[in-house]
Amino acid sequence: MPTYEYQCESDHQFEVAQSFSDKALESCPQCGKKVRKIYSNVGVVFKGSGFYKTDSQKKPSSTTKTEAPKTETKTETKTDVKPAKTTD
Ligand SMILES: [Zn+2]
Repeated sequence: MPTYEYQCESDHQFEVAQSFSDKALESCPQCGKKVRKIYSNVGVVFKGSGFYKTDSQKKPSSTTKTEAPKTETKTETKTDVKPAKTTD
């Protein structure tokens, strides 16, 4: 469940765990004044944790692929020696 951070008109700050379908808090539990939502890093961590997991899983496979082009560079030096001798 995501945690939302609120701040009321009297600068009371508090966090409330709510589901997405829950209605946003409207009054401060301490003083009863109007509150507004603060988008702090609490919400970002909840959203990012899911995406980062799938992203890091793709990394290991691409590392093994970079080893293939190494053999291609070797053949390039071999063809450079051939034309020199045909002149004679
Ligand atoms: Zn308050």
